[in-house]
Amino acid sequence: MGKNAPAFGFWTWGANITVKVYILTPDFNNSDLPYLLTPLQSWNAVAEATLSGVTFEYRGATSAPLYCENCLTIMRGPVFDGVKRHATELRAYSARRDQIMTWAHIVVDPVLTNPKALTNAIAHELGHNFGLLDCYTCKQKSTVMNQFKAPNVPNDMEGPTACDVAQVKSAYKELSIRVRPSPQAIEVVDEGEEPVDDDTPVVIRKPF
Ligand SMILES: [Zn+2]
Repeated sequence: MGKNAPAFGFWTWGANITVKVYILTPDFNNSDLPYLLTPLQSWNAVAEATLSGVTFEYRGATSAPLYCENCLTIMRGPVFDGVKRHATELRAYSARRDQIMTWAHIVVDPVLTNPKALTNAIAHELGHNFGLLDCYTCKQKSTVMNQFKAPNVPNDMEGPTACDVAQVKSAYKELSIRVRPSPQAIEVVDEGEEPVDDDTPVVIRKPF
């Protein structure tokens, strides 16, 4: 913990909300569905322990990415650039221009096809949904925010660790006192990360 725990305080869901989760079709195979949903359950299981009170509720398929309040769309799109090891990223928007997301998209690169690696990647991206940053200096398996050894290779991390729960708990304790501005307005000091591997969530403008 301490230095070797993922930094928190970045993009996050508001406390005690239900996030409506949709999966963009036909981006994934039906057989992928349980692998995409398993990490949502893993994070739901710690909703009380983290003090977030945030739970994910799978609402079904969608034919277009959604921009509704507290909506999370899981979809495919180009992410992997052949250099960085991340093949997924979080895209988020805050109508209030603060760290609390109005909507979010988890974008999964087409190279990521291994079902177990899909589970691991979604578990990791959900960590970003709770304000955690990547922690490449953290001990292997101590956090779901570890770096992946390679894209499309499972890392056996299906959900948050005790360390992740503790960090998210700290994040929501802070959130109850103050809400930070949107992450792009913050100078992200994250010495443990290689810049090329950084998949710090980015903001995209709300489309018309
Ligand atoms: Zn990441």
